[in-house]
Amino acid sequence: MNLKETVPDWISRDVAKLRNWYFGTIAFVFLVVSLWLISLWHNLAAQMKLAQKKDDFISAVSHELRTPLTSIRMYSEMLEKNWVSSKDKLAEYYGNMRQESERLSRLIDNVLDFSRIQKGSKKYTFTVGDINRCIENVVEMMSPYAVQNGFSIETDLAAVEQSAFDSDAVTQIVVNLLDNAIKYAREADDKTIIIRTATAGGFITIEVEDHGPGIPHRQRKKVFEQFYRCAAESTRETNGTGLGLALVKKFAQAHDGFVEILTAKPTGSIFKVVLTVQN
Ligand code: ADP
Repeated sequence: MNLKETVPDWISRDVAKLRNWYFGTIAFVFLVVSLWLISLWHNLAAQMKLAQKKDDFISAVSHELRTPLTSIRMYSEMLEKNWVSSKDKLAEYYGNMRQESERLSRLIDNVLDFSRIQKGSKKYTFTVGDINRCIENVVEMMSPYAVQNGFSIETDLAAVEQSAFDSDAVTQIVVNLLDNAIKYAREADDKTIIIRTATAGGFITIEVEDHGPGIPHRQRKKVFEQFYRCAAESTRETNGTGLGLALVKKFAQAHDGFVEILTAKPTGSIFKVVLTVQN
């Protein structure tokens, strides 16, 4: 018997509809499950990456703490045992101890601020003042460290309008940028670091220029991510936590501003921090 002739049209239409509905449902469930699995995988991969970054960060911080502490211990032992007789050497060792302790303070400031920002408990204190004055203080503080590493710091500070700013945050912006310039441009032929300020259109800009290897265009956003360190040789040979620039960005944003990287001539980077003038 030929079934096609006995089964009425409406039945075969219903069967086809049912079949379509059945396959459609299976396809939909399959799609939902696949999307869920993909997002689960992405989440897991991101969590693992973050956990790895945190591990790297902890070992980087421990390493960064150990280096200055070892130097301080070494110098203090030499002084304690009266092994240093020349006055010049004494002054040099005391100077080194001071610089190493300042390095420790910079690291601890960065870690504490980062943790406060993460917890949402970072407070800013805005007071009206002269940003140039704040920058001059940082230059005065960092100059001996720069000179010890063969650098000189030049300033080109324009008369900027009075503005409300958080002086600790601005200090840390400049300290972190100078610290990086000294760290990453140490092989540069020209070891001059230039700090400029300017003001226009309700903004104050602070620029820190070095003549080191510079930062490739494709990494100019990434370097501001927490824990990120470039794979460049200049970075591999130095210690760091990958927090300095993430904090510079956060502090600039706290002043309704931003930070960007420009190319210096003939080589190097210019970190340009733009802050909104607030009265
Ligand atoms: P850290 O210096 O602790 O590694 P930062 O957040 O300060 O972390 O910097 C992130 C990365 O950006 C550095 O690891 C380095 O690769 C790159 N970088 C920062 N400043 C400079 C600079 N002036 N010149 C070249 N590379 C830089």
